[in-house]
Amino acid sequence: MIIFVPVLLKNIFDQGRDFSWERPPHCPKCNHYKVWSHGFVQRHFDGFDTFLLLKCYRCPHCGCVLTLRPDTHFSRFQASKDTIRSSIKERVKSSRWPPSTLSLSRQRHWMQNLKRKIKAILSDTWDQSVFAAYDHLISIGHSPVSSSI
Ligand SMILES: [Zn+2]
Repeated sequence: MIIFVPVLLKNIFDQGRDFSWERPPHCPKCNHYKVWSHGFVQRHFDGFDTFLLLKCYRCPHCGCVLTLRPDTHFSRFQASKDTIRSSIKERVKSSRWPPSTLSLSRQRHWMQNLKRKIKAILSDTWDQSVFAAYDHLISIGHSPVSSSI
């Protein structure tokens, strides 16, 4: 299970294992009063040449493993939410991809997934822009550019 927390990637990078993660107050799955430290996972993020260490906890009661992840990023995405958002915004506004270091294939992939989500979740009745759907999908609890529906 992923728990999104307000942390800065740069601090995680600089401090590594010494970064002070906030322990979840209880298990979000079974509500057990305490979760135990369970090491780290290595995750890549745009802007860093090496992986960053994200902290894990494990519930001794139900066995659930919790991974803390920066809330600036969607699950399984190396680009930040802001980066993805501005790419989509630019594409919708100007019909061009923004000049950036991001590969076109990644940006196209985000747009494809977003359009698929609009169809599947918001249906054909969605009459606002593709860009508006990006924010709307987040507000109703969806990751707007992930491939899973
Ligand atoms: Zn539990």
